[in-house]
Amino acid sequence: MVTSVKRSITILGATGSIGLNTLDVVRRHPDRFSVHALTASTSVESMAELCHEFRPRYAVMADQQAARALSEVLSDLPSVTVLSGKEALGQVAADAEADTVMAAIVGAAGLPPTLAAVRAGKRVLLANKEALVMSGKLFMDAVAASGAEVLPIDSEHNAIFQCMPPDKIRNTGGAGITRILLTASGGPFRTHSAEALRHVSPAEACAHPNWSMGQKISVDSATLMNKGLELIEACWLFNTTPEMIEVHVHPESIIHSMVEYADGSVLAQLGSPDMRTPIANGLAWPERIDAGVAPLDLFRIGQFNFERPDLERFPCLRLAAEAFQQGGTAPAVLNAANEEAVAAFLAGKLGFADIPSIIEQTLAATEVVPADSFDTIFAKDTEARALAREQILRRAV
Ligand code: NAD
Ligand code: MG
Repeated sequence: MVTSVKRSITILGATGSIGLNTLDVVRRHPDRFSVHALTASTSVESMAELCHEFRPRYAVMADQQAARALSEVLSDLPSVTVLSGKEALGQVAADAEADTVMAAIVGAAGLPPTLAAVRAGKRVLLANKEALVMSGKLFMDAVAASGAEVLPIDSEHNAIFQCMPPDKIRNTGGAGITRILLTASGGPFRTHSAEALRHVSPAEACAHPNWSMGQKISVDSATLMNKGLELIEACWLFNTTPEMIEVHVHPESIIHSMVEYADGSVLAQLGSPDMRTPIANGLAWPERIDAGVAPLDLFRIGQFNFERPDLERFPCLRLAAEAFQQGGTAPAVLNAANEEAVAAFLAGKLGFADIPSIIEQTLAATEVVPADSFDTIFAKDTEARALAREQILRRAV
C-alpha cells in the first residue's frame, strides 16, 4: 500500500466560498492535511472561528485594523501568529513550511500572493482565474521556471485536466486532442430577453441556478464573462488557442467539460455541481479521496441539454475572446474593467446591461502594450480601473 505524504496547506481567501469548501474537504482528512496559514480580507468573526478549529500557524488579514481585532479574539490561542497586509500575504504564500497553496482570493488582488506561491515552487491549486487572465504568459513562464505544480480548480478546467493524459496537458496536439468542449451553465438569465436583462437586480444575478459561489463570480456567470475568463484560462493552462475551444451551454451543470480526440472519442468528467469535487481532486492528486459529495444519480437527472451561447445578449464572452486575440495587456484591461463594472453593479450604481459596454469602452480607450513585465500589467490594471470608474460615474443609475 502506498502511504501518502501529509500535506501542509495555506489557503488564500479562506473565508470565501472556495476557501470554506477547501476546509470542508481538509476537515474530513486530518491524517492527510494540516493547515499552515489562513488568509482573509476583513471578516474577523469567520476567521476567528476557522482559527479555533484548524489551528494554523499564521492568520493573515488584509489590513491592520482587522488583524488587531482578530488578535484580540484569538488571545486564548497564542500558537496563531496574526499578520496583516500584502507583504504578509506573499510571505505565507511562499513559506517553506507549506507545500500546497489554495489560491482562492477573488480578483486581481489574488495575483501577487498566487505568484509568490508559484515562484516558491508550490503545488498551487488555482481557483483565482483572474490572476492567470491578467498575466497569462508571464504567469506560465514563472510556473515553468520554478517547477511549481499548478492544478486547475475551476470545475471546467479540472474536468478538462481529468480528461487529458497528465503528461500532455500542455501538448494537446501530441495527445491527439482535436477540440476542448467547454461547458457553461448559462447563468440565471439564460432565457431572459435583452429587454428583461436591463432590469435585473444584484440579488437575482447572485442567485445562480446550480452553483453557490461568491458574489463576483456569480455576476460573471450571469453576464457570461465567467466563460470568457475561462476561455482565456484554458488557453494558458492547456497551451492552446480559442479556435480549439468550443463553448456550449449545458444548463444542468453535470458535464463539467469534455475533450475530443482524433479517433472520435470524447471524454467527459461528470459530477454534481459541488466545488468540493475539483478541490479534493487537486488536494489529493493523483490519488482520489472522499470529498463529502453525494454520488451522482445520473438516472434521476435523465437528460442533458445543450445550446450555443447567445453573444448578442451576452457580449462579454465575445469581448474576452477578442481581448485574448489582441494579446499584450488587453486581457488585464478586460479584467480590471469587469471588476469595476461588477462592483458598481453590486453596489446599485450600474445597470446589469451596462456591464459589457463599460468593458468595451475601457478596452477601446486603453492602449494595448506588450505584457513584458508584471509591473506593466499592474500599471495597466490601475489605468483601466480609473477609466472604467469614470465611465461608470457618467451613467450612474
Ligand atoms: P468569495 O468572494 O466567496 O471569497 C473571496 C475570498 O478572498 C474571501 O476569503 C475574501 O476575504 C478574500 N479577499 C477578497 N478580497 C481580498 C483582498 N483584496 N485581499 C485579500 N483577500 C481578499 O469568492 P469565491 O467565490 O470563493 O471565489 C474565489 C476565486 O475562485 C475567484 O477567483 C473565482 O473566480 C474562483 N472560482 C470560484 C468558484 C466558486 O464556486 N465559488 C468556482 C470556480 C472558480
Ligand atoms: Mg468555472
